[in-house]
Amino acid sequence: VNVATAMDNGVLDAVLAQVRPLLGQGKVADYIPALASVSGNKLGIAISTVQGEHFYAGDAHERFSIQSISKVLSLVVAMNHYAEEEIWQRVGKDPSGQPFNSLLQLEIEQGKPRNPFINAGALVVCDMLQSRLSAPRQRMLEIVRKLSGVHDIAYDSAVARSEFDHSARNAAIAWLMKSFGNFHNDVSTVLQNYFHYCALKMSCVELAQTFLFLAQGGHAAHISSPIVTPMQARQVNALMATSGMYQNAGEFAWRVGLPAKSGVGGGIVAIVPHEMAIAVWSPELDEAGNSLAGVAVLEALTQQLGRSVY
Ligand code: GLN
Repeated sequence: VNVATAMDNGVLDAVLAQVRPLLGQGKVADYIPALASVSGNKLGIAISTVQGEHFYAGDAHERFSIQSISKVLSLVVAMNHYAEEEIWQRVGKDPSGQPFNSLLQLEIEQGKPRNPFINAGALVVCDMLQSRLSAPRQRMLEIVRKLSGVHDIAYDSAVARSEFDHSARNAAIAWLMKSFGNFHNDVSTVLQNYFHYCALKMSCVELAQTFLFLAQGGHAAHISSPIVTPMQARQVNALMATSGMYQNAGEFAWRVGLPAKSGVGGGIVAIVPHEMAIAVWSPELDEAGNSLAGVAVLEALTQQLGRSVY
């Protein structure tokens, strides 16, 4: 199915209408007050294609907290500053099968997180960035602004502060890794960076454009130097496919069949390699912490378009 033709035929609006009855069945993240106050009744989708087309429907322009979607971007920045083996000796490449903020395997596996897309793994990545970048938060803003082409993308400081005020579990993860020698910098400095990354506020339209480079072998059309190599883009997509949806990665592969990364703000970014990046948003989550309606939108859309990497 040609994407542009499908969109002309109102496929996006139809998909949102089909999924809308699911609103009310999930639960908005409530571990911090700043997220608990978001209206659950939102549903948006945006698509950016390698041909330079943009499609969107619903609440596609409203910004939300991207949360764990930022874990992909921090890995990409780390890939720009570290040799391959330096990264993968400190963090694994396998799915965890556990909730994103679990401490269980970390103790058994001596402080080496299963993958960079659970909290432990992302904290190690943020620790690496703190070691080599003079201003990691500024660097992240520069890269998302450059990739999206939108210059006022910023951190939601209320969300970042709220995360820091409720950081017991993430701090425990960082300290446990420090006890094993897999965390080198000051814990609260790195937590602050991590929480700011989580607190990036972006819309579906901005996210789809930002992540398009992963559908294009690491290249962003409007930026002359590649963001990552074609091999690195393939590696990031593989990690998204195996670990991007936490303990529901298998279920998601079954239903949707695309590399994807979710966040507890209700956003999900999915990649159709060589074709498009898709961003969806709906704040109510399922029990794994993935957007309940967001997954359903991706399932309906991939079925309509006949897309899957499998
Ligand atoms: N800020 C959240 C946390 O650290 C991010 C988790 C997520 O989006 N899955 O727990």
